[in-house]
Amino acid sequence: MAEIPHRSSTTRTVAVIGAGWAGCAAAVELAAAGHIVTLFESSRTLGGRARAVEMQAQLLDNGQHILLGAYTTSLRLLKTVGVATDEALLRLPLQMRYPAGCDGMDFVAPRLPAPLHLIAALLRARGLAGSDKIALARFSSTARWMDWRLDSDCSVSELLQRFDQTERLIKLMWRPLCIAALNTPPERASAQIFLKVLRDSLGAQRAASDMLIPRVDLTALFPQQAATFIKQRGGTIKTGMAIQKIAVSNAGWRVMQNETESDIFDAVVIATPATQAACLLADVTMDVSIPTFDYEPISTCYLQYPAGTRLAAPFYALNDDPDAGCWGQFVFDRGQLNAAQDGLFAVVVSASSTAIELGHDALAAALAAQLASALQMPQLASPLWSRVISEKRATFSCTPALHRPEETTEFPHLVVAGDYLASDYPATLESAARSGVKAAKLLCAHFTLAK
Ligand SMILES: Cc1cc2nc3c(=O)[nH]c(=O)nc-3n(C[C@H](O)[C@H](O)[C@H](O)COP(=O)(O)OP(=O)(O)OC[C@H]3O[C@@H](n4cnc5c(N)ncnc54)[C@H](O)[C@@H]3O)c2cc1C
Repeated sequence: MAEIPHRSSTTRTVAVIGAGWAGCAAAVELAAAGHIVTLFESSRTLGGRARAVEMQAQLLDNGQHILLGAYTTSLRLLKTVGVATDEALLRLPLQMRYPAGCDGMDFVAPRLPAPLHLIAALLRARGLAGSDKIALARFSSTARWMDWRLDSDCSVSELLQRFDQTERLIKLMWRPLCIAALNTPPERASAQIFLKVLRDSLGAQRAASDMLIPRVDLTALFPQQAATFIKQRGGTIKTGMAIQKIAVSNAGWRVMQNETESDIFDAVVIATPATQAACLLADVTMDVSIPTFDYEPISTCYLQYPAGTRLAAPFYALNDDPDAGCWGQFVFDRGQLNAAQDGLFAVVVSASSTAIELGHDALAAALAAQLASALQMPQLASPLWSRVISEKRATFSCTPALHRPEETTEFPHLVVAGDYLASDYPATLESAARSGVKAAKLLCAHFTLAK
C-alpha cells in the first residue's frame, strides 16, 4: 500500500543522480526522512556496479559479490526496504577453504563467541603447519594490541613482512584475502585499510565476521526494493536518463537531462562514480576536490554444467598461479544459493588486468581446466556454456595513504556519495551504502537548520 507522505513545510525535493548502492542508500534515507526523491539512473537497470545482467535467458550479476556480517549499514537498509535478509542471503561462518586434495588449507570459524571462534578455527585448520598457526595468532594479537591502526600507512606486503608472516600463510590466506577485499595486490595495497577490514572480520564478534552470499540477483537484492520504497513515499525513479549538467539558480538546483529538459530541486546528491561526479561538479564550482583514481578490474566467469553438478561447499578458494595458467581465485556453486541456477558456477578473478589480456574465450577455457584439476572433477573442463564479464573499472586501486574526499561540497545543498569517498573500507557495497547515508544525513541536517 502506497504511503504518500504529507508534504509539510519541512519536506524538500531532492535529486539523486546515480542508482548504484550509494545513490539508492541516499534516496532511501531521504525518503524515510519524509523528503520527495527523484532518482536518476543513466542505465536501464538499477544497481550500478552491483547489478543484474541478462545472460542465457536468466538474470545473473555483473560480478559475484560477497557481503560481511560487519556491513551494518547495508544490512540495516535491506531491512528498511523490506528484504528478508535470512532468505535473501546465505550466511556462512568466516572461512578460507580450498578443495580437498589440492595444496591448500581448510580454515572455518565455528559458531562460537569471539575470539573463541578464531582460536578454534586455528586449532582445527587443516593444511597449516604449527609455525603458520603461530604466525596467524601473532598477527591477530599484535594487530588487536595496535587497535588495528598504523602510524603511517604502508603496503600489505610490508606489513606482512613486519609481522613475520610465513610464506605459506601469505600464499593461502593473506594474499587471497587482500585481493578479494581490496581488489589490489598486496605489493600495492594499503595496509591500513586491510587492517580495518580484518578488524571487522578476523577481529570482530562472530556475527560480524560471517560471510553473506546473495541468493537473489544484486538488483533484486536492494536497488529494486529501494525503488519501491521510494515510490511508496511519493518519489520517482527515472532510468535510462543520464544527467548532463547541473546548475544553481535562485529557484534551486536545475538538473538537466539535455539542453531542453530539466527539473528544479531543493538539493542534489551526485552518486555517480568519481569521474562523472567530477564532471558534474565542474559545472558549478572551480573547486572540484575529487582526485583522479587508478582502477583495478574484476572478471567473473560463469560456467554452466549439467544440472546436479555440485561442489561439496557453496564456495572455495583456489590456488591462483598465472604462470601456470591458473587465474581463478574463488569458485561459487550458484546452485547451492538458488535452485534455478543448478549446475552454474561463478569463478572470480580480482585485480584481473593480466587475465583480461587472454581474451574472454581463452580465459573461460583456462578457468574450466583449472576447476577440473583443482576439484578433481574432469567433467568441469567442458562446460555447456561459459561467459566472462570483465568490469574494467571495478574499484579504485586501494593504495597506501590514498586521499579520499568527503561527501560535502562548498554548497550545503549539494553533496556527493560513492564508494570512493573517505571510509574505513575499500570500494565495497558497504562503503557505498555508508556514504549514501552520510550524504543524506548531511542534507537533512541542513534542511533542519534552514527551517
Ligand atoms: C565485479 C565486481 C565485484 C565486486 N565484488 C564486491 C564484493 O564482493 N563485495 C563488495 O562489498 N563489493 C564488491 N564490489 C564493489 C561494489 O560493487 C562497489 O563498490 C559498489 O557497487 C559501488 O557503488 P556506488 O553506488 O558507489 O557506484 P556505482 O555502482 O558505480 O553507481 C553509480 C551509478 O551512477 C550511474 N551514473 C553515472 N553517471 C550518471 C549520470 N550522468 N546520470 C545518471 N546516472 C549516472 C551509473 O550508471 C551507476 O549506476 C565489486 C565490484 C565489481 C565491479
